[in-house]
Amino acid sequence: PMRVLSGIQTSGEMHLGNYLGAIRKFVALQHEYDCYYFLADLHAITVWQEPEQLRRQIRHIAASYLAAGIDPKIATVFPQSMVRAHAELAWILNCIARLGWLDRMTQFKDKAGKNAERSSVGLYTYPVLQAADILVYKATHVPVGEDQKQHLELSRDIAGKFNHDFKQPDFFPLPEPLIKGKFGDAGARIMSLKDGAKKMSKSDPSENACIFLRDDADAISKKIKKAKSDADVLPSEPKGLEGRAEAANLVGIYAALSGKTSAEVLSEFAGQGFGAFKPALADLVVDKIAPIGDELRRLESDPAHLDAILSAGAEKAAVIADQTVREVKEIFGFLV
Ligand code: ATP
Ligand code: MG
Repeated sequence: PMRVLSGIQTSGEMHLGNYLGAIRKFVALQHEYDCYYFLADLHAITVWQEPEQLRRQIRHIAASYLAAGIDPKIATVFPQSMVRAHAELAWILNCIARLGWLDRMTQFKDKAGKNAERSSVGLYTYPVLQAADILVYKATHVPVGEDQKQHLELSRDIAGKFNHDFKQPDFFPLPEPLIKGKFGDAGARIMSLKDGAKKMSKSDPSENACIFLRDDADAISKKIKKAKSDADVLPSEPKGLEGRAEAANLVGIYAALSGKTSAEVLSEFAGQGFGAFKPALADLVVDKIAPIGDELRRLESDPAHLDAILSAGAEKAAVIADQTVREVKEIFGFLV
C-alpha cells in the first residue's frame, strides 16, 4: 500500500513556495493515499526559537494546512514533538547513518554558513531526523520541493543500510520523492522575489522576498510590483528566459498557479514587458492565495480547536510509529 508522509518546519511564516512545492500536493494526495502530514517542530529547534513564537508557529503551520484544504478527518495531521517515536528512531538511525553521508548535505552548508562550528549538532543531524520521520511510518512516497531531494536520497541510503545490515531486505521501503506529481515541474522550486538565485524561504529575513499565505490582496500586489525583474520584454519561448532568473521565476509562478506550462504563459504574454505582466500575475496570485489567507486567519483565531485536532492526530500517528520503533528495537537486540 502507498503511504505518504511529509512535513513543514515550524520555523516561520508559510509562503508561496511551501504552498506550490508542498501543501497543494498534500491536498491532492489525501484522497488517494494514506497520508501523514506533520508539523516539523523538532526540526525548527535546530536553530534558536523563542518559545512563545514556536507555539504560535506550530499552530500557524497547522492552520495553513487546513486553510489550504487538508482535511484532518482524512489525512493525519500532528506535531512531530507529540509523537515520541520520531526522536527515538532518530537516535537509532544516527547510529546507522555515516558521517561522510551527512558531510555531503548542501542544506547544512547553506544554513550553517561560515560559522559551522557554532551551529547546533541538531542542525547537522537534521536529515537523520527527517529519515526517522519518514521511516517510522514506513512511508513509500514523500511529496517535497526540489530542495529536499538530497535529504530524501539520504533517507533511502539509511533505509537501505538498515535493511542490509540486519538482513531484513523488505523492512523499510525505500521512500520515493514526489517532486513532480500531477503538477509537473511547476512550483517545485520558487525563488525569492528579491534574488533569483535564492529559493524562497521561511527563514529569509527580507519581508519582500516571500509572498506569505497570510498576505492580503494589498500586500500581495505590492510585493509583486516591487519584485525584482528586468527591462526586457517576455520572450515567446522558455529558452528566451535563460539567464533571466527573476523573469523565469515570475513566469514560473504564473504557470504554477494557472495550471499552464511556462510555454503557454509565454505564448500569451510574449512581447510584453513587466509593466503589463506584473499586474496580471498579481491578480492571479490574489485570486488563488488571498482566500487561503482569510481562512488561515479564521482558524488561527481559535487555537483550542487547532490543538484538539493536533492531539487527536498525534494519537493516531503514534499507533503506527510506536509499532515501528518496537520492531526496530527488537531487530537491534534491545529488550522490548
Ligand atoms: P526554512 O527556511 O526554515 O528551511 P523553508 O521555506 O525551506 O523553511 P521547509 O519547512 O524547509 O520550508 O520546507 C517545507 C516544504 O516546502 C518542503 O517540501 C520544501 O521542499 C518545500 N519548499 C520550501 N521552499 C520551497 C520553494 N522555494 N519552492 C518550492 N518548494 C519549497
Ligand atoms: Mg527548508
